[in-house]
Amino acid sequence: MYLCTRKGFFDMDISIIVPLFNEAESLPHLYEWIARVMKENKFSYEVIFVNDGSTDNSWEVINKLKAESGKEKDVVKGICFRRNYGKSAALYCGFKAAQGDVVITMDADLQDSPDEIPELYRMITKEGYDLVSGWKQKRYDNKLTKNLPSKLFNATARKVTGIQLHDMNCGLKAYRKEVVKNIEVFSEMHRYIPYLAKNAGFTKIGEKVVQHRKREFGTSKFGINRFVNGYLDLMTLWFLNKFGKQPMHFFGLVGSLMFFIGFIAVIVVGSMKLYALSNHVPAMLVGVNPYFHIAILMMILGCMLFLAGFLAELIIRNSPSRNDYLIKEEI
Ligand code: UDP
Ligand code: MG
Repeated sequence: MYLCTRKGFFDMDISIIVPLFNEAESLPHLYEWIARVMKENKFSYEVIFVNDGSTDNSWEVINKLKAESGKEKDVVKGICFRRNYGKSAALYCGFKAAQGDVVITMDADLQDSPDEIPELYRMITKEGYDLVSGWKQKRYDNKLTKNLPSKLFNATARKVTGIQLHDMNCGLKAYRKEVVKNIEVFSEMHRYIPYLAKNAGFTKIGEKVVQHRKREFGTSKFGINRFVNGYLDLMTLWFLNKFGKQPMHFFGLVGSLMFFIGFIAVIVVGSMKLYALSNHVPAMLVGVNPYFHIAILMMILGCMLFLAGFLAELIIRNSPSRNDYLIKEEI
């Protein structure tokens, strides 16, 4: 355990989590920079490098950093995945391991500046934020493939989530420890951690303009498909948040409505036929009337949606997390 000057032996101010995939060249510079900032500000800290199945020698570099950090050996921690699982998985494991009062996440590629950490720490500890997200107001990325789509992505995310952040997916973020211990990042949901936090009841979410730098080594790990996947994930999260615990409220309502409309339409088609027959007016066979087929289709789809909702409710009944509630305080 790192000996700290300001707090108790086992307390730790900051955990810095660095997810990385093939970032060997950047790591020594990043660690040196973080250590300098931490020392200048007299923070007790740990740096958790999560090696997400790198195929270069990132893991050897992390081992070397640990071996060479002498007195501060325990500051450097490393988790090495057997294969590449993605940034969300890396963050999830980092969050589980973190011990600091404030948890900072930052990318390994030197695009985020460790100089921002003291102010982020202050915002969490002194201003009472649950989460502070970086905002790369001036970005050093490709304009066409990143900056513009990112603006659109963030505008959509603001509308759907109701969280007024300019840069929801910024890698540099600070969290109160309680937040990271109570949310579960999975799949590719690292883009929406503020939304996960908000849904878990951590609503004091702030933003800080942060410096952004050009990538010095290696290449970006995410292509343009990030925006397609990101959009689909946003829809999933929105739906889960709204109906995840009561799927019948969605499927049951839509299903019943469809069934009802189809049922009325069948009655209308049948009544029109009966009216025509009783008045000896020529009318087409009900079986060839397209409205009849549309109406029957609606009734069938309505039943299926209703059934889907019912099955989802049965699944939730057996879910181990059906009664998971976050309790803030008890007296
Ligand atoms: N990363 C990771 N696993 C992956 C892809 C990326 O841990 O499967 C890490 C990567 O090494 C970097 C961070 O996530 O530290 C952000 O990735 P990148 O810089 O490529 O994203 P961009 O800055 O282009 O959005
Ligand atoms: Mg980057």
